[in-house]
Amino acid sequence: MNSDSKIYALFGNPVRQSLSPVLHNATFQHLSINARYVALRVDTVQDALEQIKRLNIQGGSVTIPHKTTIGEYLDEISDSALRIGAVNTVAVSNHRLKGANTDWTGLVSALEELLIIKGKTFVILGAGGAARAAVYGIRERGGIPLIVNRTIQRGEKMAADLNCGFYPISDMKKIGGDCLINTTPVGMFPSHEKSPADKNILRNFRWVMDVIYNPIKTKFLCDAQAAGCSTISGTSMFVHQGAEQIRIWTGLTPPVDFMKNVVLEKLRYGRN
Ligand code: NAP
Repeated sequence: MNSDSKIYALFGNPVRQSLSPVLHNATFQHLSINARYVALRVDTVQDALEQIKRLNIQGGSVTIPHKTTIGEYLDEISDSALRIGAVNTVAVSNHRLKGANTDWTGLVSALEELLIIKGKTFVILGAGGAARAAVYGIRERGGIPLIVNRTIQRGEKMAADLNCGFYPISDMKKIGGDCLINTTPVGMFPSHEKSPADKNILRNFRWVMDVIYNPIKTKFLCDAQAAGCSTISGTSMFVHQGAEQIRIWTGLTPPVDFMKNVVLEKLRYGRN
């Protein structure tokens, strides 16, 4: 790192567990870009904006709890981020802050590695930020999203906002479709022995995806594999959303296979 190095950052709280610094620093090096990506724990959006100015940060990722609140402080926001209601990417250009959402492209690209979305029905467990990105992306590609959520009020509100079907979690046994996607944090390390769904319902789906990326194969995906489903790990979504960030920040084509290896090596062996 030298005085010419550009700085990119992750803004959120907590940020310690994030693999984004490992992913982006390896990618900058691979692309011979003189830049460094740092994780900054910030309690408020105002803290994040202050750091962007103070450190002359060129762009960043936004995570919990600021994804849904940072939008109103930016100079511009993409249509997709506006519709989803969450910003996970900020790019700085001519002192203007532009917000985007790459979670939806990440999710869609991960699905499209295995299936064609158009015309298929996707049952989405959860009604938070990741679920909103999933609904938006699936709809964009011509698929049919249905939401299932624990808290009925939240699920109904999201279904009304994004104009799609909603079922309470108690109806889960009655619902089928082409693909089931977990967007809840249930099963995430260190609670990796948990699954968000009863294993008996998994055979109602041909494909099963988890947005959780640590562990690579969650209990939900192990159960799905045992039920004969094809599975898609959240690592693929994580890599693709990061790849889209690289494209936004640098204008370069991201080295997706290289990025995938960086994340898998880190998760499997703790190295990069
Ligand atoms: P969020 O906004 O907090 O939403 C979480 C959702 O999960 C809510 O609908 C909540 O239901 C539901 N939920 C939580 N605990 C539950 C439980 N014990 N049983 C049933 N439902 C439960 O979170 P988010 O931002 O969408 O993130 C969700 C997950 O996605 C996280 O694990 C995050 O790391 C992951 N993610 C991955 C990527 C990637 O690139 N792979 C990108 C973004 C997010 P209620 O409404 O009932 O509370």
